[in-house]
Amino acid sequence: MNFAADPTQINFANQPKVETIGAVGGGQLAWMMAIAARSLGISLIVQTPHESDPAVAEAASCVWAAVDDAMATATLADQCQAIAFENEFVDLDALQPIADRGVEFVPPIASLRLLLDKYEQRCYTRDIGLPTPGFCLMETPEDLDLAAVGGGFPVVVKARRHGYDGQGTAIAHSRTEVAAIWERWGRPSVEVEEFIPFTRELAVIAARDRRGNVEIYPIIETQQEDRVCRRAIAPAQVSASVETQCQTIARTLLTALDAIGVFAIELFLTADDRVLVNEIAPRTHNSGHLTIEASHCSQFEQIIRIAAGLPLGDPSLNCAGALMVNLLGTTANQQTEDRQRQQLAAIPGATVHWYGKASRPGRKLGHVTVTFDGVEPGDLRDRALAVSRQIEAIWYGS
Ligand code: ADP
Repeated sequence: MNFAADPTQINFANQPKVETIGAVGGGQLAWMMAIAARSLGISLIVQTPHESDPAVAEAASCVWAAVDDAMATATLADQCQAIAFENEFVDLDALQPIADRGVEFVPPIASLRLLLDKYEQRCYTRDIGLPTPGFCLMETPEDLDLAAVGGGFPVVVKARRHGYDGQGTAIAHSRTEVAAIWERWGRPSVEVEEFIPFTRELAVIAARDRRGNVEIYPIIETQQEDRVCRRAIAPAQVSASVETQCQTIARTLLTALDAIGVFAIELFLTADDRVLVNEIAPRTHNSGHLTIEASHCSQFEQIIRIAAGLPLGDPSLNCAGALMVNLLGTTANQQTEDRQRQQLAAIPGATVHWYGKASRPGRKLGHVTVTFDGVEPGDLRDRALAVSRQIEAIWYGS
């Protein structure tokens, strides 16, 4: 099914029911999408090359191919009515002709085109008036424009594409270090940006449907260690001004993009309560995993609802607050991991999500969400961090 060109003209009540949606990628995000789809009576077909991927067990069926294999995505499109993405490792030029044939991508290729390259994303974010760290493009170390990146060191060097979990992000304290990183990475074109001494990192998950309706989830605080997300807390304990800035950023971005889908916007909060955009992910995101238990409609249900043309779900919290802790791979054996997971599940209010991936130190293997009730807003962060310490002591040892 292809939707009408003018989204304002769609009468959803008259649309044939969407029964099958495709997902490009088979990792944990697709796995959680498949579970949400099932609860709505919708099948999810997954494109992945790996039989061991988490989503394979939950998917209605699979197209066995690499995520950047656009021919395979065309095959996927023949079997479903809309296609969502689980990651950004796709080949947009190859997908464009498929989109031109009327296949419905969520988000549309035109939105993805502005966001997949970190330098182009920064340019777009700046051009639509959103606050960002200073940045410049660097083809060779001689290009480094210190004035553009805050006037001095440190600076942050970022690979333009295919970075994740801090892979492709490095902090440099001198021109020599910038040059060394550039050499180590094989002399690519990189984005260099101002180092922001943030007081907190925040994330906002926002959804927009084909009619232009927008729903914004409660602001989430995320905590990274070695540039990898370790935990998330919602709602973030921030001032009303900060909350408004986050919501305005989300609404401005989604409207400017004419976006369709679920987007995660990672943000820096400065000591003087300014919010800067770090990164935009055009998909469901690790920071929003806690929405499964804590929101009336999770980010995963939301993307399925949007792809299926159903009205947006309610993103508000169904509890006083929630904590999500990532379970990163350790050197523990499987027996120990099983025992640790049982201990985690026994924590009051906890739900353990286990992706079933092969264990490797540092790899995201699962997450725990804990919901809280009867906690005063001012006490939530301390309470959540205390429970996080308890979880991490069980998982990593104290
Ligand atoms: P990835 O795409 O791998 O998630 P990010 O660009 O989000 O990479 O960076 C990962 C982490 O590195 C951020 O969450 C933040 O902690 C840190 N970081 C990234 N950019 C900056 C910056 N400009 N200033 C300070 N810290 C940064």
